[in-house]
Amino acid sequence: METETKPAQKSGPFSLKELENHVDEGRNKLLISCIRCPSKILNAGIAEYKDIEFALPKMTLRKDRKDENIEEEILNQYWMVADKFAFENIGFSNAVSGIQYLICADCEIGPIGWYDKSTQFCYVSVSRVNYRS
Ligand SMILES: [Zn+2]
Repeated sequence: METETKPAQKSGPFSLKELENHVDEGRNKLLISCIRCPSKILNAGIAEYKDIEFALPKMTLRKDRKDENIEEEILNQYWMVADKFAFENIGFSNAVSGIQYLICADCEIGPIGWYDKSTQFCYVSVSRVNYRS
């Protein structure tokens, strides 16, 4: 039997069952943290669940990131945060045509989501973060 030494890592979209376990009255039931390090990103109840289709480049560490040929992945489940100051910790990468990618403030893995400069809303992919109660 495998021992549980690290938090369960989420990959891929939420199933209906997982949605039930993670969403309470439209908001995140659990604390959201980085998928790679212990950095806390959002407290429970801060973000609103949204079905939105948006393509994000595959996740990398900033030091491994190259400007060209970054493969994108279409994701359609996000946590929307209407106030960028509501984050516990978050990093912003360089601006790309009206948006900025969100990265972990500590280990700089990303993008975990994006910041829309026109609406000032942030969106965090449900499959690129970890959850703790
Ligand atoms: Zn991190």
